[in-house]
Amino acid sequence: MKKQTKIWLSSPHIGAKELEYVNDAFISNWVAPVGPHIDSFEQELSRISSGYNVAALSSGTASIHLALILIGVQQHDDVLCSTFTFSATVNPIKYLNANPILIDSEEDTWNMCPDLLEIAIKKGISRNKKPKAIIVVHLYGMPAQINKIVAIANKYNIPVIEDAAEALGSTYNSQPLGTFGDFGVYSFNGNKIITTSGGGALVSKNKEMIAKARFLATQARDKAPHYEHSEIGYNYRLSNISAAIGLGQLEILNQRVLKKREINKYYKKELSSIKQVSFLDEHKGSFSNFWLTTILLDKNSAIDREYLRLKLAKANIESRPLWKPMHLQPVFKECKFYVNGVSEQLFERGLCLPSGTNMADEDIKRVIRIIKCIYEA
Ligand SMILES: *Cc1c(COP(=O)(O)O)cnc(C)c1O
Repeated sequence: MKKQTKIWLSSPHIGAKELEYVNDAFISNWVAPVGPHIDSFEQELSRISSGYNVAALSSGTASIHLALILIGVQQHDDVLCSTFTFSATVNPIKYLNANPILIDSEEDTWNMCPDLLEIAIKKGISRNKKPKAIIVVHLYGMPAQINKIVAIANKYNIPVIEDAAEALGSTYNSQPLGTFGDFGVYSFNGNKIITTSGGGALVSKNKEMIAKARFLATQARDKAPHYEHSEIGYNYRLSNISAAIGLGQLEILNQRVLKKREINKYYKKELSSIKQVSFLDEHKGSFSNFWLTTILLDKNSAIDREYLRLKLAKANIESRPLWKPMHLQPVFKECKFYVNGVSEQLFERGLCLPSGTNMADEDIKRVIRIIKCIYEA
């Protein structure tokens, strides 16, 4: 039998204008980490981020790193961080030789539990070690309980970084994610809702901070005709070519969000008849970009997550377990954590389904057919 075409979890989906903008960049010879496309990309991104200031950077990871530096996180400082995330959220804390303290999820959004967050803050203060920053993640595009988290952070006067790498286009009470905390982070890696082939952005209401981010991202060069440095710099700027791709992608972001939501709705409609399978719903005020559609298998389901994943793989369909929590990762085994079992259960029983906006209708039907087939067998 002929092998069926591969269905990916979420692959790049290029629109009509990207190549034209890249061509402009080539013709004008702005093939560098500086140029007019970067400026336009920052302006366009700012327009959809409540008019906040934007620094276009080489990755989401670099953006988190700079946010921590700008907050003043140093060696031995404690940083509270969602445990249910991708490792790139936590790694920059370690780049600074600071200590990640990992906070578990709540069941309504699968994101940081506000109660555990406050417990961790109080514990830190009681030990005379107030956490220096909070990194809250909006995983799979689903808004965390961001109003509660920001209120707690404000009560104790601790800066918040929102890792919205997976959540561009998501909102809470109509406000874009990434604009609630002191800093917001986006990623334009190849698997994200829009891509620049690789890239990221740091956003903030604070104009000076974003100017400082650009300075640090371009090797911290002081104003002088020669090369003069009084601070450690980084090579973290986005390339003008990548920004040109990003300009085209931003034009179709809304279309991509609508399509992702359509995909989610379709899976839900088709699979809700299987009683062992459940979905994550939006809570009041939240609007998800549904970057990936995720399912959770019942505790008592005879079919486990790996069985389902391998069956899909056999049919040349990529799926992936929900992200393995950071407190269970060998590399972070020394880190402190505050857990309630939620993220561990999500990892055990959850699966991300193919959610690419460039999937054909027939592709998604093929995924659904196989899942139904497994449960009807
Ligand atoms: C992708 C991702 C990042 C890192 O972004 P890069 O641009 O790949 O460096 C950070 N956090 C989360 C939650 C992500 O999904």
